[in-house]
Amino acid sequence: MNQSEEKSKILDGRLFAQEYLEKILKPRCDIFREHYKKLPKLSTILVGSNPASESYIKLKERFFEKLCVESEVFRLPENIKEKEFLNFIEKQNKDDSIDGILVQMPLPDHIDEDIIIESINPSKDVEGLSPGNVYAWAKALPNLVPATALGVLALLKFYKIPIEGKHVVVVGRSMIVGKPVAHLFLKENATVTICHSRTKSLEKHTSDADILIVAVGKPHFIKKRMIKEGAVVVDVGINFEDGKLIGDVDYDDLKLDASYISPVPGGSGPATVCILASNLLLAFELKKAKDDEEKRNCLKTYYENYNTIGETGFCV
Ligand code: NDP
Repeated sequence: MNQSEEKSKILDGRLFAQEYLEKILKPRCDIFREHYKKLPKLSTILVGSNPASESYIKLKERFFEKLCVESEVFRLPENIKEKEFLNFIEKQNKDDSIDGILVQMPLPDHIDEDIIIESINPSKDVEGLSPGNVYAWAKALPNLVPATALGVLALLKFYKIPIEGKHVVVVGRSMIVGKPVAHLFLKENATVTICHSRTKSLEKHTSDADILIVAVGKPHFIKKRMIKEGAVVVDVGINFEDGKLIGDVDYDDLKLDASYISPVPGGSGPATVCILASNLLLAFELKKAKDDEEKRNCLKTYYENYNTIGETGFCV
């Protein structure tokens, strides 16, 4: 197929990340350098090894090098006991030099993900998954929001894709992607359908989507016959086949039918990393303003506005 036959426009996560870095994150870093002696630090914890997590960590570390943040990756053994893991997190909760804690999911089966998430100090929970943070995004309040979910929304906003009144279909209902994505798009006044492994006639739902967001974790799961012509398709999936990174969407099959489509790699991944950085900066600033409720509210609104409407405003 020659290039001219391709009619989908690419939702280019790398381009988004470049602009976000220059226009949003770096200016904020300049303010940080001026106002604070210590800069934000992220701790990433990986238990065992997982190709999707390794790929994400690599992307994140490369991006964070360009910022005013310190980032350290802690690798724990696959067979670590839950109790030991909890002790490790407790130490990081108490460590004042650490502003954000990211535990890479999935965890080994013998560890209860909910218990681990709930053990993270909510003010360091840059993934927005602890109970108080979930309450906030479910109530559409500005706060720390799961980075991949907000990354999808920010990417569509970057390409000025209309959302209000559109039918958004999300395939996947995890706490880290599917559910927060659905809430964020509801907040944007879309009509949202969530599909999962027990959904009957999946194709009937996906082919009705104006915007289809896929977070299933199955390589090339979404085919051309499953979308309507002109749909916007965002592929969140990270899968490895024969050492190659591929998404949940069969990009080559769909690329003539979607109006916009995000590639893997280079789509949702870079957008996620941007929002993670933004969450770390927000967590850091909220900590600095811990006794000033007015400033904390201002900061939450400031960060939400620039992530969802591109408005930089001012709140220092
Ligand atoms: P989970 O495994 O937690 O969730 C997968 C979801 O897909 C579940 O809700 C499951 O349904 C649903 N599902 C599974 N099979 C089907 C099916 N046949 N039809 C419809 N739905 C189905 O995965 P995550 O949400 O954590 O991640 C999804 C993908 O996104 C993975 O590839 C992951 O690596 C990637 N990812 C990418 C990120 C990024 O930054 N780009 C960040 C995080 C994840 P049910 O609930 O019924 O089991």
